[in-house]
Amino acid sequence: MRVAQLGAVQVPLSITQRPTPEPGPGEILIKVTACGMCYSEVNLLNGEYPFARFPVVPGHEITGVVAALGPGVNWPAAGTPVGAQFLYSSCGHCDYCVRGEEILCPDKKITGVGVDGGYSEYFIGRAGFVTPLPDGLDPVAAAPLMCAGITAFNGLRQAGLRAGARVAVLGAGGVGAMAARFAAAMGARVVILGRSRGGEARAKAIGAERYVATSETDPADALRGWDGGADLIVNAAPSSDAAAAAYGGLAPDGTLLLLGYGPEPLQLPTMPMVLGRLHVMANPSGSPHDLRDTLAFAAAHGIVPEVTSVSLDQAPGILASMAGGTAHGRSVITF
Ligand SMILES: [Zn+2]
Ligand SMILES: [Zn+2]
Repeated sequence: MRVAQLGAVQVPLSITQRPTPEPGPGEILIKVTACGMCYSEVNLLNGEYPFARFPVVPGHEITGVVAALGPGVNWPAAGTPVGAQFLYSSCGHCDYCVRGEEILCPDKKITGVGVDGGYSEYFIGRAGFVTPLPDGLDPVAAAPLMCAGITAFNGLRQAGLRAGARVAVLGAGGVGAMAARFAAAMGARVVILGRSRGGEARAKAIGAERYVATSETDPADALRGWDGGADLIVNAAPSSDAAAAAYGGLAPDGTLLLLGYGPEPLQLPTMPMVLGRLHVMANPSGSPHDLRDTLAFAAAHGIVPEVTSVSLDQAPGILASMAGGTAHGRSVITF
């Protein structure tokens, strides 16, 4: 099979041939239909994951079809369309695993980081950690739901989003667009904050009631002028400073949710945090039950990411442009 692999930190992706693997006990072989290219692959390339294992096939926004079952595995049946995500596996017996919070397991494995992922014609997954695709989800467009989608959906509900809440989304790229669309479909009011004036039409198209260009308007001032501030600020920009700049726009009891972040520490003034009883939290992807809910919700509400389909041969150039900050939109490798 053909794969794209990273041989070491700061070494570009290379295309190579490997033997098609055989599924072992508890495993299934998936013929990959599509794999989204996520910005965490840039973190991997830059050596920001100390638990990464090189050489590694990246990719954790995987859709495909079950091709073979390992010994003792009887689900999902061969031919089932499935999705596989960031969380590859967990220990199954720690306090977090037994309460269905496998994403918090200290012994979890991460797809495409600690084990080979989906930049590959075939992928070996754990049977209990893949999710059948609901009817009506296009397997190519749905690929980013396995990371950007679940991260946004699960972050909103972990933050306790209520219908009617005012939600400000910083950055309208992959995760930000997902967060805005999910929040609007959950009954929230949404404002999107982006750098330039040009984002207004798209913001309205994905469910925002207004758009703020942060190059022209202070984000905290703009949010305080929105009926008293945001109940939830979702930072989807790859910058901790962007989150800090908007933080003053939280309403009392409001929450700053980090889905995007930069390498720099997050610096926030403490007195407004205390007086306003403000909350700061983050969210890494989700557990298997969260992926089921994400996919069911996306299918029911017609929330499908906007993607560009690319070939495996294009992946090295695209990852380089993502690392260089010149890539636009969500690329999905299709096979
Ligand atoms: Zn990801
Ligand atoms: Zn565990």
